[in-house]
Amino acid sequence: MTSPALDRRALSDFRALAGRIDGNGPRYTSYPTADRFRNGPDLSLYHDALDACRADAPAPLSLYLHIPFCENICYYCGCNKIITRDHGRSARYVSYLGREMALVAGRLDTRRQVIQSHWGGGTPTFLNPEEMRRVMALLNTHFALAADGEHSIEIDPRRVDQDRMALLAELGFNRVSLGVQDFDPEVQQAIHRIQPFEETRAVVDAARALGFRSVSLDLIYGLPHQTAARFGHTIDQVLALRPDRLSVYSYAHLPHVFKPQRRIDENALPPAGEKLDILVSTIERLTAEGYVYIGMDHFALPDDDLAVAQREGRLQRNFQGYSTHAGYDQVGLGISAIGAIAGRYVQNARTLDDYYGALDQGRLPLARGVAMTADDHLRREIIGDLMCNGVLELPAIEARHGIDFDRTFSAELADLDRLAADGLVRCEPGRITVTPLGRLLVRRVAMVFDRYLRDDAARPVDNGARAANDGAQPIRIVPRYSRVV
Ligand code: SF4
Repeated sequence: MTSPALDRRALSDFRALAGRIDGNGPRYTSYPTADRFRNGPDLSLYHDALDACRADAPAPLSLYLHIPFCENICYYCGCNKIITRDHGRSARYVSYLGREMALVAGRLDTRRQVIQSHWGGGTPTFLNPEEMRRVMALLNTHFALAADGEHSIEIDPRRVDQDRMALLAELGFNRVSLGVQDFDPEVQQAIHRIQPFEETRAVVDAARALGFRSVSLDLIYGLPHQTAARFGHTIDQVLALRPDRLSVYSYAHLPHVFKPQRRIDENALPPAGEKLDILVSTIERLTAEGYVYIGMDHFALPDDDLAVAQREGRLQRNFQGYSTHAGYDQVGLGISAIGAIAGRYVQNARTLDDYYGALDQGRLPLARGVAMTADDHLRREIIGDLMCNGVLELPAIEARHGIDFDRTFSAELADLDRLAADGLVRCEPGRITVTPLGRLLVRRVAMVFDRYLRDDAARPVDNGARAANDGAQPIRIVPRYSRVV
């Protein structure tokens, strides 16, 4: 089942509704969302996950590797990163990554092919060429990286040259994702990220010349000094580069949570109406230029794997956003990395000290995690179907999970009726469909099926008591462009 295309009517309804229906909410790169993971779980959670994973038939694996270092701070950033110019720090980190890989791989079936890998950060290209070679050699020692798999890396165009791009190709990367945010010099000045267009174009050209299968650009709207007209000029420049994929994230200004954002002038931020105009005009422009709206900030050219997977109903979500390969166990390596293994989520320690300390003791650096219940599995599937394919086929869900949908989700169906009245979904016998308008507010639709949000709403809010009572973390607001959650 494919998702219906966006049209002018959907965008105009969205403009009218967006102020009343809050589109904010979890990004659902996992369910339960990462803020629901329990602090300090017993290591047996991770061991059980790896053992269960080993017992499975040798199905493919996905792998995420986090390199936390950056040379400069970007003021908007909410990622888990370490700002340093001391490149000696990465040498030590690489050696500990090797220890972690050995511990994880020691419990895995090494016949399982890694068909998807992603290096994120921070800035993975902070590593020098020898360190990158070393990390890739370690990965190849401990895991079976499929030669024809999807192997991607986030790069900072300010930090790579032609030689570095050639090295990435030589190491087996075939997809690159470039942070851009905005090409406007005044915006770049305000966010402390000076990145001339020509510099980015040189990296994109190099990626194409070297045969990378996909080039993806990340933009952010809602930054200081942006207007629809000025951001439109950035979109002109982006379109000249014709990336295969585009992410257009909303900036969430939360200076009480992310200290670097205190250096952003709040008075220069676009008002809510202007921010909405930027988003709507960007969607109009990109779709008019042939890009497919995948959902939740993501666009792709029609022949890109993501757009093809969406047309064929195979699209899924994982920690990198939308993916064609999200049905597999995912191993997370490095600080704060999240793994999704055999029905458990595990997240590594967020600081270098905790990460190194655990590995010095010869144990996996687990900090948080959760074992999914049968209800979590059911709701994860429903939320994934809504966000990726825009439709729920109720008889199929009932058969797979042995439930009566109407009885199990009577409260949710009542909430959906309200969203149907606003035109976000269509409820028919045996099927719930997200409308083109609903696709623009799809997290609002998905939230209806989030058991944890529903439970929160049903009891007095006391995050501190919740943390003390059941070990869950208080709700942490995470900017939408964060790659960690
Ligand atoms: S946006 Fe990227 S490069 Fe900038 S500080 Fe954050 S992680 Fe580092």
